[in-house]
Amino acid sequence: MPELPEVESVRRGLQAAQLRAPVVEVWRSAFKLRVGKSWAEENLACLKDNVPKDIRRRGKYIVWEFADPDGETNGLVIHLGMSGRCGVTTTAQPKVAHTHFALRLGDDREVRLVDPRRFGGLRAGRLQDLMASEPLGTLGPEPLEKGFGGAVLAERLGSSRRPIRDALLDQEAIAGLGNIYAVEALFAAGIFPMVEAQRLHASAWERLAGTIVAVLQRGIDNGGTTLKDFRNVEGEVGRNQDDLRVYGRAEEPCPRCGQALVGFVSGGRSGAFCPRCQPRPRTRLVR
Ligand SMILES: [Zn+2]
Repeated sequence: MPELPEVESVRRGLQAAQLRAPVVEVWRSAFKLRVGKSWAEENLACLKDNVPKDIRRRGKYIVWEFADPDGETNGLVIHLGMSGRCGVTTTAQPKVAHTHFALRLGDDREVRLVDPRRFGGLRAGRLQDLMASEPLGTLGPEPLEKGFGGAVLAERLGSSRRPIRDALLDQEAIAGLGNIYAVEALFAAGIFPMVEAQRLHASAWERLAGTIVAVLQRGIDNGGTTLKDFRNVEGEVGRNQDDLRVYGRAEEPCPRCGQALVGFVSGGRSGAFCPRCQPRPRTRLVR
């Protein structure tokens, strides 16, 4: 599932395509995408005749700004779900299977969303309304923005009794982090993934904040992680899977100490940790 670095890679690819010609047609397949309250009204028709502007990211969502003919600012939220791919093609190119959305621009280029599993989502409207409502309105702080650090993590998760790995996946606590990067950040910080979040001392939060930033930044530098489906705008796979130290490597030797990594499942999601580098804590507070 695309996490912050994968979505950021797609955002950068779309931005680099310099899409500036007005929207001449909005095409949508007959298939439903991500269902749920916030995605039920896709409202995509409002993008017609809009001029594409900046492409931003909020957590795991792409937020594309548009100027509508009345001078108002509209937005398009794209969620890639499990298997969503965003690409830029020429209009003449036939749509591949599982294409569910196409935004045709005045320069005969199209932005298309291909999503075989259809867990992705689309939502358009006034940018201001989109930012203030589900799913964007409830997102926690961005880990790669100024001001993020141990104090932010402690404030948002410091009273949680959930295992720290699970707590980190809560998008309302911190935006953009998913299982892969949470597992990697905990390994880099030497923190046992199943310890209750409330047992972390300020020093552990600080260390963890630092490793979260580092693993996300490395993921972006590597163009994202491709375990199965992820592709960037050019259709290329990421390279970060080669840099994962523990995720998906249960029973392999720890890259730091050589001890066999141990797999675990919590909240329905699997991970791995090193029992020597990330020991189960014996004291109440984890430093
Ligand atoms: Zn180790």
